[in-house]
Amino acid sequence: MKRIPVSGPSITEKEIAYVTDAVTNAWYANANVYNDRFERAFAEYHGVRHAVSLPSCTSALHLSLLALGIGPGDEVIVPDCTWIASAAPVSYVGATPVFADIDPDNWCLSPQSFAACITPRTKAVIAVDLYGNMPDYAALAEIAGQRGIAIIEDAAEAAGSRYCGRAAGTLGVTGTFSFHGSKTLTTGEGGMLITDDEAIYRRVMVLRDHGRRPGDTMFQNAEVGYKYKMSSLQAALGLAQIERIDALVERKREIFGWYREELGNCEGIVLNHEAQAVHNSYWMVTVILPEWLGGKAGVIQALSKQGIDSRPFFSPLSSLDAYSASPMARAARARNTVSYAVGAHGVNLPSGLNLERADVARVGAAVREMLSERVPAVATAHASLV
Ligand SMILES: *Cc1c(COP(=O)(O)O)cnc(C)c1O
Repeated sequence: MKRIPVSGPSITEKEIAYVTDAVTNAWYANANVYNDRFERAFAEYHGVRHAVSLPSCTSALHLSLLALGIGPGDEVIVPDCTWIASAAPVSYVGATPVFADIDPDNWCLSPQSFAACITPRTKAVIAVDLYGNMPDYAALAEIAGQRGIAIIEDAAEAAGSRYCGRAAGTLGVTGTFSFHGSKTLTTGEGGMLITDDEAIYRRVMVLRDHGRRPGDTMFQNAEVGYKYKMSSLQAALGLAQIERIDALVERKREIFGWYREELGNCEGIVLNHEAQAVHNSYWMVTVILPEWLGGKAGVIQALSKQGIDSRPFFSPLSSLDAYSASPMARAARARNTVSYAVGAHGVNLPSGLNLERADVARVGAAVREMLSERVPAVATAHASLV
């Protein structure tokens, strides 16, 4: 029985041709051709002035915080349920991450919890487009605007999603993307920062190149910076991917549609939500399972026995050893009831771009079987003896 992987990209002749051309020709005078083309195509798709190719989304978030001048003594609000890369750069710059609760429907930052977490030290909020979904940006922008708080949009999981017709990544002062092999668009590893803000863009360009000023040819570094670049081979792969983004998002939505056919009528479970204002690119199909199944770890194990790979919904950051000792995490554990309820029972189902309809049928049957197994404890014990 073929194992069904949890995620992975779509690579075609186009990607192979571009990367082959890059490794053959993108040297000497042509060294930057693919980075320029990828950045221009990415900026054009998103309707923004600037796109900067980077080694990762983590570095894009790091540069966003640095360019906004955020540092020691500042607080940055982050949703409790997200990949740690959303929050780790806050620590890199010496600021303090504050973990706000998520919304029970879209699983993204709750505007109410965001407002409740604001203090005089709050300088920015990192809004995360979780699993392709998007938070209520109208509400977030209103709260942030009143207090002079910058919105950074972590769109790592949401390339191709839209909020009120606006592309994911364009709802903050900067938008950040990941091209890790698991994401909707991939360059193997890689990232992008997009912005319409000229000052932020200029600052990012200096910081990402060891503190070199624009046009510096004499290696006269103006300050100590970082080395955050993407190779031309990765950029060639990325160019092919952004040229195919509409087809890739359409496929993600088709895969979600298959899951809805398989699981949409099951009682007691919840699949990804799509609000009226949102066009969801469904990076990861996710199911929240009933409490009686006993939590996500057992579900993942049971699926694995049937040759199906899955992943846990992000556990709240405030529950992780990485943060558990911080006073902010202690406060979050008491406050973020939705993060703890959803985080305990959510599982990401196989969502790779190579999935076939029959794979989703297999996953659907496995989940339905699990849900049908609710029997009294005595009967379960007896059955295991037979
Ligand atoms: C994948 C991911 C990142 C990090 O991306 P890298 O390119 O691995 O640095 C950041 N935020 C979220 C929400 C992600 O899913």
